[in-house]
Amino acid sequence: MSVTTRRDRPDTIRDAVRVVTTVGELRAAIHAAREDNRSIGLTPTMGALHEGHLSLVRAARAACTFTVATIFVNPTQFGPHEDFARYPRTLDADLAALAGCGTDLIFVPDADELYPADWSTSVEPPRVARRWEGECRPGHFRGVATVVLKLFNLVQPAAAFFGCKDYQQAVVIRRMVRDLDVPVEIHVCPTVREPDGLAMSSRNRYLSPDERHRATAISRGLRQAEALALAGERRAEALAGAVRNTLAAAGVEHVDYIAVVDPETLEPIAGSASRAVILIAARVGGTRLIDNMQLVWPDS
Ligand code: AMP
Repeated sequence: MSVTTRRDRPDTIRDAVRVVTTVGELRAAIHAAREDNRSIGLTPTMGALHEGHLSLVRAARAACTFTVATIFVNPTQFGPHEDFARYPRTLDADLAALAGCGTDLIFVPDADELYPADWSTSVEPPRVARRWEGECRPGHFRGVATVVLKLFNLVQPAAAFFGCKDYQQAVVIRRMVRDLDVPVEIHVCPTVREPDGLAMSSRNRYLSPDERHRATAISRGLRQAEALALAGERRAEALAGAVRNTLAAAGVEHVDYIAVVDPETLEPIAGSASRAVILIAARVGGTRLIDNMQLVWPDS
């Protein structure tokens, strides 16, 4: 992993923000913050940071008095044929961006720091992890839930900040926290978008200019479904159909799912919806993108 280059970080960044790489250093820094009666806010990330990530850090800063960000491309949440090896790693830019947001502490572990060679315990993810991403990416949520619980145990934050962009992930984490009595408040922050609507994602940098253009069909389709809902359309199939048509017209053919689901159980809605989230996963070229939109009806 290229995070090993962290040891060569320029001193200017090292001076601007405290960066730790080992569990021991992290625990010591957290202990000191707790002794100082600071309320700890955690933002876990995989790096390649953009404004979406930074919005979470800013929310953590607004709500807490000691802000911790983690940068860790978590191997256990990637399938064997996924993009773990080529996932973008931009550590120096990430550290500078986090320093600019006033982050107090950044944890950048190597994989063997979190997963010793004989590591074998993991979190069985809750039922809400089964469908959608859980089906398309077997083992993904086991990896996510495990690393997030480990980070919660290490940092013991009062609050942790996640993005609505990964809607199912946020629901999985909320359920895990409830089911396992983890003493942390989960905040889910709005999806930050590019001016043309594309949800910001570290993976957007994989897109060619043509793919980048076609990818806007995802948010356009969601906005059309939203407009239909606001005009009173409640039939799940009609709402999903509007998104499907928009994607097809833009030549986005590899759709993993377009699902109109209950916002809490993530079960698909058959017939008419009274509250719903529409979830999408589609591939544009070789890049798999996800997005979602909460649907609201004028009278609900
Ligand atoms: P990642 O680095 O992709 O694991 O994402 C780290 C956190 O940032 C997760 O809680 C994501 O949901 C959140 N995030 C990613 N993209 C966005 C976005 N466009 N807007 C808001 N939050 C985001």
